Amino acid sequence: MSRFLNEKYKGFEAYVPGEQPQDKKYIKLNTNESPYPPSEKVLQAVNSKEVSDLRLYSDPECKILREKMAELYGLDKDNVYLSNGSDDILNFSFMAFGGNGVCFPEISYGFYKVFAELYGIEYDAIPLKDDFSIDHTDYFGRNKLIVIANPNAPTGLCLSVDKIEEIVKSNPNSVVVIDEAYIDFGGESCYKLIKNYENLLVVGTFSKSRSMAGARLGFCFAQKELIDDLNKIKYSTNPYNLNRLTLVAGAAAIDDNGYFMDNCKKIIETRDYTTKALENLGFTVIPSCANFVFAKSDKISGQALYEALKENGILIRHFTTEKIKEFNRITIGTMEEMTEFIRVTSKILEEQK
Ligand SMILES: *Cc1c(COP(=O)(O)O)cnc(C)c1O
Repeated sequence: MSRFLNEKYKGFEAYVPGEQPQDKKYIKLNTNESPYPPSEKVLQAVNSKEVSDLRLYSDPECKILREKMAELYGLDKDNVYLSNGSDDILNFSFMAFGGNGVCFPEISYGFYKVFAELYGIEYDAIPLKDDFSIDHTDYFGRNKLIVIANPNAPTGLCLSVDKIEEIVKSNPNSVVVIDEAYIDFGGESCYKLIKNYENLLVVGTFSKSRSMAGARLGFCFAQKELIDDLNKIKYSTNPYNLNRLTLVAGAAAIDDNGYFMDNCKKIIETRDYTTKALENLGFTVIPSCANFVFAKSDKISGQALYEALKENGILIRHFTTEKIKEFNRITIGTMEEMTEFIRVTSKILEEQK
């Protein structure tokens, strides 16, 4: 830390992303990326013409991709906002709508707490139930910004659209942000509710189900007034926050929507295999609607399993938070990767005896 850093950031703890090791090749099951490459159409779209056009600024209105998204989801383009990853949208939401404080689940995406602290927003971290599910009634009548990941991370558990609607309805004077980073893997999106509720913001991303984490493309749906607020912040910070290559890549991905749906189906099948295989090894596995499973074993600690797998070239995500430290979050890779993961895990458990 330099002596020039603003006083207010001195004790601030930044978000710690999952490892992205560059030293050797791992089977990477730690940051919920897709094991499949983006669509062939994306590859064709990011061509030498687009690269030579990099001398020009990108379209700050992201018009072409917004129209494509609107058409795919049956919305108006004024209901769509695009940004540099969904983290960017969450960031802007805390800035724009966090004035009266914020609440989110105690065990959830770690970034929520970081944003609250960054902006000095008072937060309530609401405990999960003993089975790790969210009690949606805990969020009734809070009248603060509410942020819920659905499916939640790292648990993978999902709330129904009805329950989300009840939360939205009971907080008419604050914004409810539903972070649907993993919705394509089995949950039901609540985006259709935006037609009826001016306080609902539904956030999505191309990072997980659409295989484009490295492109940094997030989106959200809401009524026009909320979208205008987000644009106000974007135009006051970085109007060109989506680059040209990402915009064409995103449009090409939408043009090949079937490819993405097939991949989601494969990942769901592989998740079912992984869940059963882990259960056969004696693991407790939380039923997941996401592209990861959250699991623990009585035979080995969360930390020890994480370390043993890493030694064997397999990366999973371990959290040190007390309530979940015996669990690990395991991203669903290809079937080959998951059979190898199960084989190595089984060997590690054998060695524990
Ligand atoms: C991965 C993730 C994000 C971030 O997605 P980007 O679009 O890559 O910024 C947001 N929310 C949750 C819950 C996530 O797991």
